[in-house]
Amino acid sequence: MTKPTLRAIYGGTFDPIHYGHLKPVEALAQRIGLSRIIIMPNNVPPHRPQPQATSEQRKTMVALAIAERPLFELDERELRRSTPSWTAETLDEVRHELGPVQPLAFIIGQDSLLSLAQWHSYETLPALCHILVTRRPGYALKMKTPQEQAWLERYLTDDIRELHNRPAGRIFIADTPELDISATDIRKRLTQHQSCDGLVPAAVLEYIQHNGLYR
Ligand code: ATP
Repeated sequence: MTKPTLRAIYGGTFDPIHYGHLKPVEALAQRIGLSRIIIMPNNVPPHRPQPQATSEQRKTMVALAIAERPLFELDERELRRSTPSWTAETLDEVRHELGPVQPLAFIIGQDSLLSLAQWHSYETLPALCHILVTRRPGYALKMKTPQEQAWLERYLTDDIRELHNRPAGRIFIADTPELDISATDIRKRLTQHQSCDGLVPAAVLEYIQHNGLYR
């Protein structure tokens, strides 16, 4: 029987999706040998103000961004829910679907790693999946407290083989390019009629402009 390949999920609000999302995870995929990344936009981000674009619009922008990027696939499961998107619950659901052996990973940026200890049931994540972290400029490489740092170090690895050979339980911080791009800044630029060329894929920018988003 062939070994199941590592499956990776990338969650986020994507309000809107931008190159700071796409480029670091493309580099990550290359670095560790991922043939597929599942992008999963969330519905009601529990710790955050509501997104400005609707779920449908955020989904459409993701679909436009990945249309010519075969690495990515869209998963709408969190958008179909009316309840908050708790990552740990979604990953528990995915783990049940995949069974205990399939290697599974959740991808986050460095900023999300630093706030992970505030996520609902975050301590259950290593039992469910690996966590793959991409670099983001301006965010520390150390956790906020010694307790959180000790938690992180329990799971940290730089051995890529472990990500493929084990179903879950490792945290890998990848040496990915740092892009100083955020959805907050893009929304602000759009409100102020500043250019977002090079920050957002052209098809997404066209959609934003055509639909008058983020004015
Ligand atoms: P906002 O500015 O609205 O907070 P965002 O740009 O941080 O949004 P999200 O959709 O909230 O985007 O992020 C989804 C995931 O992408 C998170 O794990 C986040 O850490 C990561 N991410 C976002 N921008 C970058 C970036 N420039 N570099 C690396 N990771 C990023």
